[in-house]
Amino acid sequence: MSNPSELLGDKRKGDEVALPDPDTHIRLNPAAAGKFRRTKIIFTVGPSTASEAKLRELIREGVDICRINMAHASHEWTREIITRVRKICKEVGRDIALLMDIKGPEIRTGPTDKPIVLEKGKAFDFLMPGHEESQPEDGIHGTTVNYPSLIEDLKVGDPVLVDSGLIRMRVVQILPGRIRCKVEIPGTMGSRRHINLPGVHVKLPAITQKDRDDVEVGIQERVNFYALSFVRQPEDIDILRQFLDERDSEAAIIAKIEDQQAISNLDEIIDASDGLMVARGDLGIECPYEDLPIIQHRAVKTCINLGKPVIVATHMLESMMENPVPTRAEVSDVAQAVLELADAIMLSGETTTGIYPLECVHVMKRIAEKMESAHKADPNRNLKLRSHKGKMLRSAAYLAHELDNAAIVVFTRSGHLAKRLSSLRPQCPIYAFTDQPALFHRLMILWGVEPFYIEFFEDPEDTIQSAFTYLVRRGWTKEGDTLIVITNALAHEKVIDTTQIRTVELKP
Ligand code: PGA
Ligand code: MN
Repeated sequence: MSNPSELLGDKRKGDEVALPDPDTHIRLNPAAAGKFRRTKIIFTVGPSTASEAKLRELIREGVDICRINMAHASHEWTREIITRVRKICKEVGRDIALLMDIKGPEIRTGPTDKPIVLEKGKAFDFLMPGHEESQPEDGIHGTTVNYPSLIEDLKVGDPVLVDSGLIRMRVVQILPGRIRCKVEIPGTMGSRRHINLPGVHVKLPAITQKDRDDVEVGIQERVNFYALSFVRQPEDIDILRQFLDERDSEAAIIAKIEDQQAISNLDEIIDASDGLMVARGDLGIECPYEDLPIIQHRAVKTCINLGKPVIVATHMLESMMENPVPTRAEVSDVAQAVLELADAIMLSGETTTGIYPLECVHVMKRIAEKMESAHKADPNRNLKLRSHKGKMLRSAAYLAHELDNAAIVVFTRSGHLAKRLSSLRPQCPIYAFTDQPALFHRLMILWGVEPFYIEFFEDPEDTIQSAFTYLVRRGWTKEGDTLIVITNALAHEKVIDTTQIRTVELKP
């Protein structure tokens, strides 16, 4: 693949084909010189990366999606960031998508004046609303919780983890208005600490009023993806979907799987959602950590076979919060996700408060490109394709393997064809053309798919020519290259589905 920068601004024959506002909706990949990266990179924006200068660096370096974590972001900051990202995309000449991460309900300990020292073997009480005044009893420490039904969800013997699993307790007694625990792993408990309840079925609602308010902002700002935290069952997705439908939003919903209940309902959750995030932060607290690699492997594989994109998230380059180079274990972890053919790998703390955000993206890119060069597998045989056109996609993927340096070109208004092709995990690039601006951004998450936004013409051949012109102009392909084109064609008056082997030539 040639270097796109050589061709920028270069007036070439064929330029007269009308292109809709090419300077707004383009995906010039500045790293395309000879390399096509299949695995997408998501970064979380935060204090370390919110400035125009940092965003510009990251977008140039090749991030695909910007994640805004509503656990920390105010509405004002969210709007500011979105405006800034769009402005810089336009300036840099490379579009990225926006993902809003919805916090969901959370169980937290109550406020404390000063940190409470919890000693091993000692009792500790969680006080329910209306019973806050009853402490202290016989020198037993206690605090409130923000979830009144906790006392109904817990039973004797259940584990209670506080502060990302640093403090561990077990329920020993359910008393009127209080849950008595015994401290197993001691520690010091501050104010409003996060509580995890491994294996416990909690009856929390799927989304809170804060989440609804956040999504309203996301809809106004036209974000492309919502990631919903702690999805436990498919109905949780349905609730957010209905909320979006009622507001005419077509944004995609990514289910964050973070606990054991989600693992039990994995297939149904994947079916109900538009994609999955393996949220290894909470998952590693809610499940035995030795299960994590198996869960990740199964989740990625199931998503690919069910035709849904999947993100591997959290602690991928944790040590790079402070260091400019990754640990060997982190290199292997990122490589593992790439080898499993996950659609996207994600950075969280590394790019919100870490001091080496740009280096993190660079490291991910290097590992992804190296691992992808080893991808020599046949197209996925486990993806169920029912229609004739669907089956044609698998044959196109095989065909691409037969031809050297080919790429597949597909035209899509709903995104289905591009998604199916991506799930086949072919060895060649997939260039997906759409005339739908919102879909153009949603396609950015898909493994191996490079989306392009163009106008479609009545005669499919005009659309194909426009696509070729675009690809050549932007340096993705050059005249004489072979492309496999999946398109409608006119056979006299009839419209038929075709797979075509085309040599790129631009109309004189
Ligand atoms: P969070 O989700 O960063 O919003 O907690 C990801 C995770 O738990 O891994
Ligand atoms: Mn989480």
